[in-house]
Amino acid sequence: MRHRIAVIGGGPAGLTFARVLHRHDHPVTVLERDPAPDARPPGGMLDLHEGLGQLAMSKAGLLAEFQALSRPEGQAMRILDTDGTVLRDWQPRPGDLANPEIDRGQLRDLLLGSLDVQWGRGVTEVVPQTRDGVLVHFADGRQETFDLVVGADGAWSRVRPAVSSATPHYTGITSVETSLDDVDTRHPDLARLVGDGSMAVYGVNRSLVAQRNSGGHVKVYARFRAPLDWHTNVDRHMSLDLADVEAVRSSLLAMFDGWAAPVLDLLRHGTAFVHRPLYVLPVSHTWAHVPGVTLLGDAAHLMPPLGAGANLAMLEGAELAESVVAAPGPGDLDEAVRAFEEQMWARAGRWAEITTAGLERLVSPDPTEAIARWDQVQPS
Ligand SMILES: Cc1cc2nc3c(=O)[nH]c(=O)nc-3n(C[C@H](O)[C@H](O)[C@H](O)COP(=O)(O)OP(=O)(O)OC[C@H]3O[C@@H](n4cnc5c(N)ncnc54)[C@H](O)[C@@H]3O)c2cc1C
Repeated sequence: MRHRIAVIGGGPAGLTFARVLHRHDHPVTVLERDPAPDARPPGGMLDLHEGLGQLAMSKAGLLAEFQALSRPEGQAMRILDTDGTVLRDWQPRPGDLANPEIDRGQLRDLLLGSLDVQWGRGVTEVVPQTRDGVLVHFADGRQETFDLVVGADGAWSRVRPAVSSATPHYTGITSVETSLDDVDTRHPDLARLVGDGSMAVYGVNRSLVAQRNSGGHVKVYARFRAPLDWHTNVDRHMSLDLADVEAVRSSLLAMFDGWAAPVLDLLRHGTAFVHRPLYVLPVSHTWAHVPGVTLLGDAAHLMPPLGAGANLAMLEGAELAESVVAAPGPGDLDEAVRAFEEQMWARAGRWAEITTAGLERLVSPDPTEAIARWDQVQPS
């Protein structure tokens, strides 16, 4: 028997889920709010861990393609003092494939393959247990029913309210992102400063991380502790217009004043600035099982962006798909989803604790905490 299955959201979680079902010839409807795959910039690199994201790629039959595109050298990590002194300079050993990096756009295209995604289909509400199954309402007024609806629609999930009343809360830490293009020719000094992977500088209650992406593109993340409305009261109680690139640049340069000039050049040469307050769901978020609806990835366990979220999202997508394929009847499907949820909650809870503690140490009143954490998590 073929279950009528819909996945809401075509991010890492939803696409991996659909791709693994597709591999097993199980039909699935993929509903994505964006009007097209390239409707938004895809974001920075993702490192896929051997036992998480790479395992998911293997379950999707895409590990060789991932290895061909990924950048093992992107695992390199350099830490500088605020005065520019190099404190750590870690390079992966030849053949080290523990956490290679891949561009999000490349990963999305790999997972998409020949999947038939319905673009421009924003979901507004999901109503479980109606007479015909789980009812999905769309922004355009249409509605459809399914046997199983999988919410893989990220931090601000519209599926989540069908199973849980939890909503994300602000961590007290904000990230402002910028990027530089064509660094090897336009900013060779900065290209050398960042190296093949990432470079981080930790100060009091703030940090600056730069990450090399493919094609000479560098992403820069300025993170700092601040109230959510910090921009409404900056210089002499003036409000900062977050859409004003030069005003945001000046404000960040003032915030990081005194740091080494080459480090600040990353902000001086940055193009647009994206304001991203960091939100999380409660650590160990669970819910009372609701037949016919479940969540994956950020929708289930939004956590600080410290290299785990996409990895977990993808592995969960692959595992849920395999559970669905192995569940022939309607009763089996519900039991399979219930068992999957228990497994997801246990693993995600552990990672939420690790990343929550990690964020506290990486943007900390004592910058030596950040270095100590880095020394603990690095393999050598
Ligand atoms: C700066 C930064 C760096 C990060 N670095 C890493 C890293 O190195 N490694 C790592 O593992 N994780 C990383 N993460 C975390 C990672 O990006 C997320 O955990 C991951 O994207 C979650 O995948 P997802 O599929 O659950 O959700 P998302 O990626 O958010 O995808 C959700 C999808 O659902 C769609 N959608 C939303 N609402 C609706 C709706 N109502 N109807 C239909 N579709 C909808 C969205 O358009 C989107 O396509 C990082 C995060 C950030 C912010």
